[in-house]
Amino acid sequence: MKAILVEKLGGPEVLQLAELPKPAPKAGEVLVRVRAIGLNFADILAVRGEYLAPTRLPYIPGMEFSGIVEELGEGVEGVQPGQLVAALGGSGAFAEYTAVPARAVLPVPSNLNAYEAAALPVSFYTAFFALHTLGQAKVGESVLIQAAGGALGTASVQVAKAMGLQVIATASRKEKLELARSLGADQAFLSSDPTLESKVRQVTGKGVDLLMELVGGEGFAQSLRMLAPRGRLLVIGSASQQQATLRPVELMKKNLSVIGVWLAPFLADREAMLEATQFLTPLLATGHVKPVVGRVFPLEEAAQAFQYVLQRASTGKVVLEP
Ligand code: NDP
Repeated sequence: MKAILVEKLGGPEVLQLAELPKPAPKAGEVLVRVRAIGLNFADILAVRGEYLAPTRLPYIPGMEFSGIVEELGEGVEGVQPGQLVAALGGSGAFAEYTAVPARAVLPVPSNLNAYEAAALPVSFYTAFFALHTLGQAKVGESVLIQAAGGALGTASVQVAKAMGLQVIATASRKEKLELARSLGADQAFLSSDPTLESKVRQVTGKGVDLLMELVGGEGFAQSLRMLAPRGRLLVIGSASQQQATLRPVELMKKNLSVIGVWLAPFLADREAMLEATQFLTPLLATGHVKPVVGRVFPLEEAAQAFQYVLQRASTGKVVLEP
């Protein structure tokens, strides 16, 4: 089978197309013929060896995908060969076939196509855990969502609206703001707007209750300033790849909380995953929320797809197709 193999850490240039044996499902695993792969910022960091989890070489990147169930390993129940599924795992999706533990397989509402299914797991489950489980968002509260035209951003805008929040979107370009507005954002401002802080104060009266920090770096201090008293800053990403500094005493003035968010530990928490699935599935099935698929690249062009995200040119989820 065709796959992208990484044998040394680095930038997009280390992604090599390779011919590898098709995997066989072990007990408890499902073999899937991959239809579409969601590209995540985390894939770019993992290939560089800069992700939260260490990268063990050689490896096939790719943590989320959709595909057709081909074969079941011993003891697997609840999935049928021929079924379209989505899956959320650690790695191995940049390939024509991949075998994943059955618990990594997620249901796909029948109104989603294979691209949309591939764009679903990481962004929508992260949005739910960030806003609901960790952020404890309440109806009527406000949230500022950074990089709102991106993959996690477009999912978060929709999930936040479904939770009854006032959504303020920020992004680097006007087209991304338009996209966020079309998904329900109440206000949308350029992240570079020198009057951003006063605009946020103006539309909320006191600052935002929640802020999804996806960019990090120099903007981190500004994020803290934009919070309302008792506001919660959700630290989800650092796409700027810059370090940020935090003086803990600064948090005391407004009783602020800073909360780290990482999807990976939730994958082993059956109850939390079930709660997220029960929240998301009806919204997806009725079209109230929908994964936004941006550009689709052939798997062979994975390096170009990485560049496209790094250039901040992408909107929604960039998808690879084997
Ligand atoms: P996106 O599709 O959102 O792409 C990244 C976006 O980050 C860009 O579109 C851009 O938006 C913004 N950005 C700001 N500075 C840079 C930069 N220097 N280089 C590239 N992009 C930049 O990607 P994802 O949805 O995959 O991820 C978004 C963020 O969320 C990442 O930081 C990622 O690591 C994090 N994440 C964290 C998860 C978790 O479990 N904690 C799960 C999923 C994602 P703009 O141009 O509008 O600034």
